[in-house]
Amino acid sequence: MQTYDIIIVGGGPAGLTAAIYARRNGKSVLLLEKEGFGGQIAYAPRVENYPGVGAVSGAELAERMLEQAMDLDTDTDIGTVCEIVDRGAVKTVRTEEGEEFEARAVILAAGARHRRLGLPNEEELLGHGVSYCAVCDGGFYGGGTVAVAGGGDSALQEALLLSDICKKVYVIHRRDSFRGDREKQERLFSRDNVEIVTPADIVALLAPGGDLTAVRVRHVRSGQTRELAVEALFISVGQVPELGAFANVLPLTADGYAAVDGECAAPAAGIFAAGDCRGKTVRQLTTAVGDGAVAALNACRYLEST
Ligand SMILES: Cc1cc2nc3c(=O)[nH]c(=O)nc-3n(C[C@H](O)[C@H](O)[C@H](O)COP(=O)(O)OP(=O)(O)OC[C@H]3O[C@@H](n4cnc5c(N)ncnc54)[C@H](O)[C@@H]3O)c2cc1C
Repeated sequence: MQTYDIIIVGGGPAGLTAAIYARRNGKSVLLLEKEGFGGQIAYAPRVENYPGVGAVSGAELAERMLEQAMDLDTDTDIGTVCEIVDRGAVKTVRTEEGEEFEARAVILAAGARHRRLGLPNEEELLGHGVSYCAVCDGGFYGGGTVAVAGGGDSALQEALLLSDICKKVYVIHRRDSFRGDREKQERLFSRDNVEIVTPADIVALLAPGGDLTAVRVRHVRSGQTRELAVEALFISVGQVPELGAFANVLPLTADGYAAVDGECAAPAAGIFAAGDCRGKTVRQLTTAVGDGAVAALNACRYLEST
């Protein structure tokens, strides 16, 4: 079996950037991806905050990143990594599909998934009125009426951002009170274009022509329903990193993110984590690719020092 210099788990922006940097440093690289190369950004209808490219569809940006990694002869494989065994100088990486690979260093770039509400047409409305990122997509609805689902800090932050640019913002939360920062709550509640809808569950996404036109909400206690006409719903009910299977090779934060340092290095030699799966406060394309570069260059340094 070939022992790669570096195995990268996850082919999103962080993993693809790590592959580009590692290959340009002459390291052999295997990039393992479980679904589709490009990661979350491939679902973004339009990306406008990635420097140097203007406006571009997420799918096109992802395709270009993959092309760049492939042009550098990165080995790739489709598989869901389910186990990493750290044998010191060599790490064994196993997939659910039964494959086994070896490398001297591993970079985890497995991202994080936005928690879903679990409504039947939620996935198909992604990019058609449903979004998980106001920073990314809020600008498309400037002047419009939108809703935010969630009661934590990030939901409050998204609602504040949207209330700066939208005509009206409904904030829908299933509890009576919000969990997020009190100062943000006060700022939000004082805004004339914000309507708080609590305690309420979103029970349906209405999109008769294929684009979201309204959300149906149900009062948690009375059971009464109401339809709110909106052009977009921003769902901010948390993110879920999927690193549970790798807790044997790197420490996790209380929320399940990789607890690595600013150099993206885990305490165990030769293990790195990059991108949205890393414990940090800003999860964006730019920070993911930044992490990918840092993790790859530090992995190269580690390999050269051993
Ligand atoms: C709809 C949408 C729009 C967005 N728009 C913007 C925007 O406009 N601007 C911006 O800056 N950011 C935007 N973001 C956020 C941005 O996409 C993320 O911050 C970025 O993709 C994170 O990159 P990543 O590589 O760390 O993780 P991800 O993109 O999540 O990639 C991780 C990859 O790892 C794979 N993976 C996970 N576990 C395993 C495993 N066990 N084995 C193998 N593979 C695995 C996943 O399938 C995935 O492909 C948006 C996100 C979404 C969902």
